[in-house]
Amino acid sequence: MPSTILNVDDHEINRYVRTQVLQQAGYRVIEAATGEDAISKWASEKPSLVLLDVNLPDMNGLQVCRRIKANSSTRTLVIHVSATYIETADQASGLQGGADGYLCEPVDPELLVATVGSFLRLREAEMKLQESQERLTQAQTIAGLTFWEWDIARNRVQQSGDVHSGPSEVSFEEWLSSVHVEDRAAVEQALRGARCGTESVRCEFRAHTPDGSVRWLATKGRVFCDADGRPVRIIGTDMEITERKRIELAVKRSNEDLSMFAFMISHDLQEPLRTITTFTEMLSLKHSAVLNEEAATYLSYVAEGSRRMNLMITELLSFCNIQETELASPEPVSLEGVLSGVLANVSTALEESGGAITHDPLPVVLGDPAQLAEIFQNLVGNALKYRMPEAPPRIHISAVRGRNVWTVSVTDNGIGFDQKHAEEIFNMFKRLHGREIHGSGIGLAVVKKIVERHGGRIWAESHAGEGSRFSFTLPASQ
Ligand code: ADP
Repeated sequence: MPSTILNVDDHEINRYVRTQVLQQAGYRVIEAATGEDAISKWASEKPSLVLLDVNLPDMNGLQVCRRIKANSSTRTLVIHVSATYIETADQASGLQGGADGYLCEPVDPELLVATVGSFLRLREAEMKLQESQERLTQAQTIAGLTFWEWDIARNRVQQSGDVHSGPSEVSFEEWLSSVHVEDRAAVEQALRGARCGTESVRCEFRAHTPDGSVRWLATKGRVFCDADGRPVRIIGTDMEITERKRIELAVKRSNEDLSMFAFMISHDLQEPLRTITTFTEMLSLKHSAVLNEEAATYLSYVAEGSRRMNLMITELLSFCNIQETELASPEPVSLEGVLSGVLANVSTALEESGGAITHDPLPVVLGDPAQLAEIFQNLVGNALKYRMPEAPPRIHISAVRGRNVWTVSVTDNGIGFDQKHAEEIFNMFKRLHGREIHGSGIGLAVVKKIVERHGGRIWAESHAGEGSRFSFTLPASQ
């Protein structure tokens, strides 16, 4: 659709000539001869551009322009047209009053069309920009995003968006004061320590908002540097994560409560269990002569039950003792050293079974030596425990280097299991084999917790009757 132009001039011939020129150039032109007429046609037709004679019979062009521009909902361009030369000061006051440009009569037809065309192109670009800004604001609101930019040289932070509704430009220190006092040092360190590159700033923190509430924000920022590689600007987004944090904290608290509960229960159960075990042993030692065969069998059931319960309590306690949080200070640990300790522990069982354990050269990884030993103790112990009755166990421990991790596998030739159980065996108390093979069903849950605490993952591959492979990853030390 062609753009509509309102051509305002009380001088009929001037108006006529301009209309002809613009119509030939493909514009739709409407006309007005007075200021009032111009305002009413502008209100009903909403033209894209008004060519406005500076001197009208009822009011001057400046007043008409002001009334048109006072309505901010439409973006109409106004070009003043003057029959005489306009003083610079008058031109300036017209521009301050909202006019977009000036033309002096007589206007060359070609220049008129070119000027109108160029102003309209400018208007279109401006409107597109406004539209895309509106869309961006909508997207920000929907996503709950704030955009911010820290101009490091000027020490000013500009922000826009939903999460902060405070002033849009503040000093860095003022901005930092809106960060919760407990998170402030970490946020300042993350920002001041940021280096050039993609998304080189990432942190989560609590912020005070102008409505007095405290909200959790996740920040991602990108640093822009000068030619010498010095950061000059950081541009980033804040996303509100208050709800996610609330759930995370609730889950953490309930996990802690559960662990504490499990710890207390298992700890408190140890004492009555010790009483049962002690007196069962005393009964069979001191009174076996007076016990008939049935009583002796019952007593052996009690002893066996107590032994199993003792195992479960011990393993449950060791599970509870492993923290959920990531290791605070992992140290370089030689897996060779860890494994040789474990092999010494299982040497009797290995000898009895007639089996053999081999291994690749093992690496140095980052972790907690005692917990890493527990991983091998459980996996090698299981490989011996779930062996084929008729074949001596063959166990191999391999290590393969990835980019930043080592994958360590413990492979056996034991009884194996159906692959469909490969995930659930890492759950607490999950056992696939019968009571004739003793166990609590906690060992692999302990191993999984340790591996995850070390930033790794664990998985199992097996087929019933064809042995198993348990693999886990650990961060490499360099
Ligand atoms: P458990 O104390 O029962 O050995 P785990 O948590 O260590 O408990 O193992 C869970 C279950 O996974 C075991 O009961 C067993 O059924 C299966 N399992 C673990 N390791 C092996 C293995 N090497 N070969 C076959 N089955 C295994």
